[in-house]
Amino acid sequence: SESEKARVKELADGLLAGNRAKLARAITLVESKKPAHRKQAEELLQAILPETGKAHRIGITGVPGVGKSTTIDTLGSNLTAAGHKVAVLAVDPSSAVTGGSILGDKTRMARLAIDRNAFIRPSPSSGTLGGVAAKTRETMLLCEAAGFDVILVETVGIGQSETTVAQMVDFFLVLMLPGAGDELQGIKKGVLEIADMIAVNKADGEGAARASSAAGEYRAALHILAPRSSVWAPPVVTVSGLANQGLEDMWSQIQRHRTLTTQSGEFAATRARQQVSWLWAMLETRLMEAMKANPKVAGILPDLERDVREGNLAASAAVGRVAQAMGI
Ligand code: GDP
Repeated sequence: SESEKARVKELADGLLAGNRAKLARAITLVESKKPAHRKQAEELLQAILPETGKAHRIGITGVPGVGKSTTIDTLGSNLTAAGHKVAVLAVDPSSAVTGGSILGDKTRMARLAIDRNAFIRPSPSSGTLGGVAAKTRETMLLCEAAGFDVILVETVGIGQSETTVAQMVDFFLVLMLPGAGDELQGIKKGVLEIADMIAVNKADGEGAARASSAAGEYRAALHILAPRSSVWAPPVVTVSGLANQGLEDMWSQIQRHRTLTTQSGEFAATRARQQVSWLWAMLETRLMEAMKANPKVAGILPDLERDVREGNLAASAAVGRVAQAMGI
């Protein structure tokens, strides 16, 4: 309708002018599950699309307690002091279970929370990992249109969340705790495979020596992995998010990665590939929703599932009946 069109235009104009209240409302619209809102959200995202893609998108992961929020608070404050506009978003699959998000929690980022050039948004509090991630990705686009030029996407390594976040960012930073050799056993091999850099945090005071030795171990572990890029070998640095040590060097290495991968064409190629994989991920989600909402399918699914469970119907035959019910 005309009023809906006007609402979308008002949000788009406000966003593009950098209005924070409009940004917050736009995110609420994108997160809404109401079908009418979804249509408006699609129009809004299409309207702002030309103004997206300009930020440096950085994923940050690490186990609870490693210092994600402390480090993001310090790094983000360094960046806003240098003239950047920083948005912090979160992908927290556990928030669907606990009903609240620990990540992207403003109280854990005391300085950024009151920084005019920072914007913190916790994880959407319901949905599957795929759904939460899709909303976060769309929120990232809205933040870019609103003029944020650094997007930090925080996640805890639960399930597939690291991989999901790695698929929406330009650079994936893994924070590690300093520790003895057995520390390595606790980390998932998969996370090393997607890391663009490892930062061993808490390299201050008595932790400094342990952080250096842990860094050596991670270097050795990374060394045996097959290279993913022709221009970038993931470095291992030691930092202290609390004492603001090593973060400047860490940031300049992140910039160097961007320069090198832009020159080699990998930066643009990765983004293009990510966009297409998001298309397919969202299509799958939408088709599954449509299938389950189809009354003919909904009418037969419980029986089909029971028959398959009891061994009376082949899964392939059940799929055939669902397809038939949908007319495909
Ligand atoms: P998160 O769960 O990964 O977000 O971790 P937090 O940022 O909440 O930090 C967990 C605890 O570690 C807090 O008590 C922090 O003060 C502490 N911490 C975080 N970063 C550092 C650091 O660089 N050095 C030291 N010594 N402690 C830190």
